[in-house]
Amino acid sequence: MELIKAQRGTQDMLPSQAGKWQAVESVMRSEAEISGFREIRTPVFEDTRLFQRSVGETTDVVQKEMYTFEDKGGRSITLKPEGTAGAVRAYLEHGLFNEPMPVKVYYITPCYRYERAQAGRLREFHQFGVEMFGSALPVADAGLIAFAHSLFERLCVKNLTLKINSIGCPSCRKQYAEALKAYFTQNKDRLCETCLSRLDRNPMRILDCKSPECAEVAKDAPHILGYLCDDCRSHFEEVKDLLDSIGIEYEVDPTIVRGLDYYTRTVFEFVSNDLGAQSTVCGGGRYDGLVEEMGGAKTPALGFALGIERLLLVMEAQKVQFPEEEPCELYIASIGNAARKKAFQLVQRLRECAVEAACDEMDRSLNAQMKYAGKIGAKFTLVLGDDELASGKGVIKNMKTGEKKDIDLNDNFEEQFAAISSEAEDFGDLKF
Ligand code: ATP
Ligand code: MG
Repeated sequence: MELIKAQRGTQDMLPSQAGKWQAVESVMRSEAEISGFREIRTPVFEDTRLFQRSVGETTDVVQKEMYTFEDKGGRSITLKPEGTAGAVRAYLEHGLFNEPMPVKVYYITPCYRYERAQAGRLREFHQFGVEMFGSALPVADAGLIAFAHSLFERLCVKNLTLKINSIGCPSCRKQYAEALKAYFTQNKDRLCETCLSRLDRNPMRILDCKSPECAEVAKDAPHILGYLCDDCRSHFEEVKDLLDSIGIEYEVDPTIVRGLDYYTRTVFEFVSNDLGAQSTVCGGGRYDGLVEEMGGAKTPALGFALGIERLLLVMEAQKVQFPEEEPCELYIASIGNAARKKAFQLVQRLRECAVEAACDEMDRSLNAQMKYAGKIGAKFTLVLGDDELASGKGVIKNMKTGEKKDIDLNDNFEEQFAAISSEAEDFGDLKF
């Protein structure tokens, strides 16, 4: 029979990669908590209008990439292409604005975009994201960037360039949009279909187009920085000053506009020099207009999202050492049914003490059991047969050193084993 395969652009996370995912996710969670962010989980699917309204009608995401379908009740449903929209919806729906400001949340979530699948560009991928509501101050922008920066440091990721820009507020953008429109109109014949439609509605989106022709035209387009109003300019200066004051290096890159419509003022990206085309690992910025746009009170806000698959690609390319998986502590081999029952009981007792232990579940010969213990990297073994059952005594063998220690099978087995194993503990190289 034909085997059904996973869908294009999706990946299975196999047990052999679980250690890496768990390690980076646990660093993300701990860094988030250190910076005062608390977890939020929102549904994978939402009302399609949520994304149209927040991400923006003229963005690539909404125009080309959404997984949208009608459910059996005739509603238009979309699988979340990013995390901010759902977080803002939940913030409004549950009155999180009543909590002490700033409200800071983080999430780890799958996202769905119908894209041309390739390395680092998937149809189902995962984001670690944070959102912060209520602060208009540059310390919030700089703090968020510093958070992402220290996250990468804790993960031992090197060779990232932090690019920052300010895309101003709706008032300074109005003039800029005029200038852009004039420029792109002159170069109309070189733009793609989608960008032609953006010319009137949102010319800034053209700067973010992936088509090489449009990117070429965009290179010589006027820069937003020349159009910033005084408030936006001084906000940007202060963000840069704060970053300087804590020694975070950055490049001001006026071509960064970010792919989603809701950004204002500060935008930033962490770009890897070790990835090919899909080089942006993390992107974010301020979105002061979004909460109001979604029906809430005027609320300054900001956030970023980091692609976990891309992060892992960078870490793998840089050969970052991941923490090793915890091996089995004790494998209890057995000969015969009575011994297997005893092994089973001892294993349960160890597991109750959170000690990773195993016994035969495959009816293997003693020889095969010992081979298996080697394969799973068991640190210690114990063999139970008729003699051990009769005497109530066994021998714990340290598989690395060959050292043997007696153990009483019927009296305080867990405590005796804990003493033996902690004596042999070797604290290897500490990883990230
Ligand atoms: P790109 O310019 O690469 O298309 P984007 O601007 O669409 O990225 P964002 O919407 O800012 O990306 O998403 C934040 C992060 O999520 C990206 O920096 C990237 O690491 C990751 N990401 C986005 N789209 C994908 C995808 N299709 N596959 C894997 N990771 C992705
Ligand atoms: Mg994209």
